[in-house]
Amino acid sequence: MANIEIAGTSGRHVLLDTDAVEQFRTGLRGRHLLRGDDGYDAAREIYNAMIDHRPVIIARCAGVADVIAAVNFARSNDLLVSVRGGGHNVSGNAACDGGLMIDLSLMKGTRVDPESKTARAEPGVTWGEFDHETQAFGLATTGGLVSTTGIAGLTLGGGLGWLMDKHGLACDNLISVDLVTADGRMLTASDSRNNDLFWGLRGGGGNFGIATSFEFQLHPVGPMLGGILIHRLDKAAEVIRFYDEFTRTSPDELGTFVAFVTSPEGERVMAIFVCYNGAVDKGEPILKPLREFGPPIAETIGPMPYVQVQRMMDGAFPAGRQNYWKSNFLRALDPQAIDSIVHHIAKAPSPYSAVAIEQFSGAVNRVGIDDTAFNHRNARYNLLIMGIWLDPAARADNVKWVRDLWGAMEPYSSGGVYVNYLGEEADEGAERVKSAYGSEKYARLVALKQKYDPTNLFRLNQNIKPFAT
Ligand SMILES: Cc1cc2nc3c(=O)[nH]c(=O)nc-3n(C[C@H](O)[C@H](O)[C@H](O)COP(=O)(O)OP(=O)(O)OC[C@H]3O[C@@H](n4cnc5c(N)ncnc54)[C@H](O)[C@@H]3O)c2cc1C
Repeated sequence: MANIEIAGTSGRHVLLDTDAVEQFRTGLRGRHLLRGDDGYDAAREIYNAMIDHRPVIIARCAGVADVIAAVNFARSNDLLVSVRGGGHNVSGNAACDGGLMIDLSLMKGTRVDPESKTARAEPGVTWGEFDHETQAFGLATTGGLVSTTGIAGLTLGGGLGWLMDKHGLACDNLISVDLVTADGRMLTASDSRNNDLFWGLRGGGGNFGIATSFEFQLHPVGPMLGGILIHRLDKAAEVIRFYDEFTRTSPDELGTFVAFVTSPEGERVMAIFVCYNGAVDKGEPILKPLREFGPPIAETIGPMPYVQVQRMMDGAFPAGRQNYWKSNFLRALDPQAIDSIVHHIAKAPSPYSAVAIEQFSGAVNRVGIDDTAFNHRNARYNLLIMGIWLDPAARADNVKWVRDLWGAMEPYSSGGVYVNYLGEEADEGAERVKSAYGSEKYARLVALKQKYDPTNLFRLNQNIKPFAT
């Protein structure tokens, strides 16, 4: 039988002996897919339909033993490797072109301990699945703003979400992580074990190995007040001014963000998304000024369980659309910056595109800046420009729109960027990842990379390059 040609690291191709591939296949408890196999196309699909990568082998891992086998197979054959958690990252790094994709999406075990208020979850779990399990006990931890995002990539990059003002980022709630390193060992990282690695895993992404288990601190959460306030676009500047003032003194229970979107009726509007993570009767008076200002042209705020808050934006962000995103932290919410967003959103070529302004305060700011690799605790606002469209042929117009707006916002930017919102390295530039960490933290991350992945086996992520490569 012919050998199998597969991408190696550094662009080289490797010829794999079919017996070796067969041995790898039979050694897995999960599935092993080659191009043309049933289920191959579904398994390589990721959130962003703009990325159409075709791995030669997909190892659908059933557990840690499969992950170790896949890492050893990749390392010993010098293969290009990608790692898929929830598959949500718009960079498309979860699926490689021509190499070995290590797919963790079947690893969905979750165990909640209601007594210690902790949970352990495997890396294929999404936030919707995680919250389903924890909310059965009235518990939750900070997860993403939509329910379909994977816990793995989101937490490793930091993890912004509805509950962060009260409970910190997703990574701030990590108690420990099990990780398979490039040499095929399994390590536990926590405050007391491999704590240098634990520091790096809280913001440094998938650079140091494959996380196979996440242990989180949980908190009593819900029922709560959630919903959306909609304002006309021409009122955006005054609403934002009010919002900026209002949120400066709002309690940690209140999580909000602003998005410029298109309503189902086709009108460009500004929406404030609200999650009041506290007793409903206490939340009503706190939200009153926000609900009254304007007033909004529509609003949906009411009591609901946390899982419903967590799904309220899912419909606007389905998988399978073309996505091109750019982001930056903002120095301040300057009125001219708002005018610029309003001007550009009115011209967006696609009604599915959106611009979000996420605010950081409360518990996120109270964690020491040096305690984790995540580096933007003192930033007040993050700007996320999401180009989202359906027709692949409309790529040029939509990408241009995102870039134009991003360029127009440059004067208001702090220069920093959230690692989980970075796009493909080829588009962002290899140096851009440094803006996610600043020079000191970046140097510390390079040293960690050198220690845990000196050959850069895990390079398909927002890559921190070791000294040697
Ligand atoms: C619609 C949408 C909403 C979002 N909302 C939020 C939000 O509210 N808050 C927020 O902070 N971010 C948000 N994000 C960004 C999100 O954090 C990132 O896309 C994140 O990387 C997704 O994680 P994943 O596991 O689903 O992705 P994947 O694409 O599977 O992985 C992302 C990266 O992490 C690596 N990786 C995945 N699993 C592992 C693992 N177990 N071990 C080591 N490396 C691994 C991958 O190789 C890849 O480089 C959103 C993205 C989308 C598309």
